[in-house]
Amino acid sequence: MLVSAFLVALSLHAPLPAVTLTAPAEPPVVMTVAEASAVCPVCGKAIAPGEGSKVMVRGHEYAVSDKGCGDELVANPDKYLDADGTAKNAKKDTKPM
Ligand SMILES: [Zn+2]
Repeated sequence: MLVSAFLVALSLHAPLPAVTLTAPAEPPVVMTVAEASAVCPVCGKAIAPGEGSKVMVRGHEYAVSDKGCGDELVANPDKYLDADGTAKNAKKDTKPM
């Protein structure tokens, strides 16, 4: 009978395993300008959101107070940035979320 076949099929599917979707591993944290403390790595001046310039150094984008600081940062990244790309004058004691 069709009904019994349906019931068999249903019973086969009945014990549904609890599917837990594991979230994919978080990608390496790339600090964006928005998350970064808005302080110019070169002169230490605070940069208001939407203000200042952005420069790319070693694949990271940094907010700087103006183009002059951006040029300086590009010219001497080691002077202002740690090996991991963090600005040397960034607050190290601030824990990420
Ligand atoms: Zn600056």
